[in-house]
Amino acid sequence: MPLDKYQRQIDYLRVSLTDACNLRCVYCMPEHMAFRRPAELLTDAELVRLISLFGRLGFKKIRFTGGEPTLRRGLIELVRHTTKQAGIRQVGLTTNGLLLDQLAQPLAEAGLTTVNVSLDTLDPTRFRELTRWGNVRDVLEGLSAATAAGLRVKLNAVPIRGVNDTAAAVALAELTLKNDWQVRFIEMMPFANNADFQTGQIVRETELRAHLETAFGALEPLHDGKLDGEARMFRIPGAPGSIGFISPVSTPFCAACNRVRLTADGRLRLCLLRDDEGDVREQLRRGATDEELETLLRSAIQRKPWGHDLASDLIPASRGMSEIGG
Ligand code: SAM
Ligand code: SF4
Repeated sequence: MPLDKYQRQIDYLRVSLTDACNLRCVYCMPEHMAFRRPAELLTDAELVRLISLFGRLGFKKIRFTGGEPTLRRGLIELVRHTTKQAGIRQVGLTTNGLLLDQLAQPLAEAGLTTVNVSLDTLDPTRFRELTRWGNVRDVLEGLSAATAAGLRVKLNAVPIRGVNDTAAAVALAELTLKNDWQVRFIEMMPFANNADFQTGQIVRETELRAHLETAFGALEPLHDGKLDGEARMFRIPGAPGSIGFISPVSTPFCAACNRVRLTADGRLRLCLLRDDEGDVREQLRRGATDEELETLLRSAIQRKPWGHDLASDLIPASRGMSEIGG
């Protein structure tokens, strides 16, 4: 399994299948976002080859993301291929859920076991404002389809000051009282294409937890207070589901980072919040052998930076979240 220069084991790859999306969440991208041309994106065949190589390198977990990964025609076949790779034990998908109604069952049949669905509020008007045109009913239908297909569900919400950080967050947390779901609140991170909004309206974990504890009483820590992946997990006493806080801004988890990201246009992005990347597509398209590609991937992983430096106002400049793959 590849180690980086800080001796962290890097065995988790997030694969962005497209930078395009069928929503325009206000904290993620501008309304008139320009997307990359199809020729710039890795093809399905290139992705299949790279995923096999990452499996050979010792990667254990792969998550498909975007942009919106369900817009990619080859998604189901890519999931099928990935779940069959010997060393890869976990395959996930992060989606806005709009198309899950149709896709949940074929995805489950292709071997997907969990799905992370982004849902920032249950309120239809707020949801439309936040996503610029989305209908929350589509997400709820997608969630029902995912549950019916036997997929394990995690919900991701990004709290935004004055928008969904009080009553809306309480309503999302309340879902854990009836469903065995993880509802995870992610601190909003700044990227160059939207940094003023993101830094101005971030809600930090301590503040959000205080709102939730006012509503539900003290939350019970799970996993002895240790991180589960990147989330610190809690439970409303007696609830079947759990609540997670992913707090990269107020409580960076860089020391435990085990991941790199493959962008839709074929760059290996070594840290979400740093602009260091390696160009894999160029090597693929100039005819590199598997051995050459493995060497390239290993040496890029070696160069993975320690972590972000948001505390010194170092904000990633080259891409926004949807162009990296969150
Ligand atoms: N379109 C899919 C979705 O929304 O789930 C996958 C891609 S989206 C970029 C992945 C996750 O990143 C979503 O949960 C979204 O809410 C989150 N996200 C987007 N911009 C963010 C930001 N600036 N800070 C923190 N999370 C962000
Ligand atoms: Fe699209 Fe996901 Fe970004 Fe929303 S968060 S605009 S759904 S990529």
